[in-house]
Amino acid sequence: MDDPYMPFCSERCKLIDLGNWASEKYVIHSPLTGEEEPEEQEPDENS
Ligand SMILES: [Zn+2]
Repeated sequence: MDDPYMPFCSERCKLIDLGNWASEKYVIHSPLTGEEEPEEQEPDENS
């Protein structure tokens, strides 16, 4: 099969994976604090 998104199953999967990789690799969203802050999604309490 000619899958342009290999090794991903879809473009969406690829973008998600690349996004995760980039965020872990470069951590552009947090300053240099010397601490590793785990990325946890806040629970959605608005329902
Ligand atoms: Zn996938």
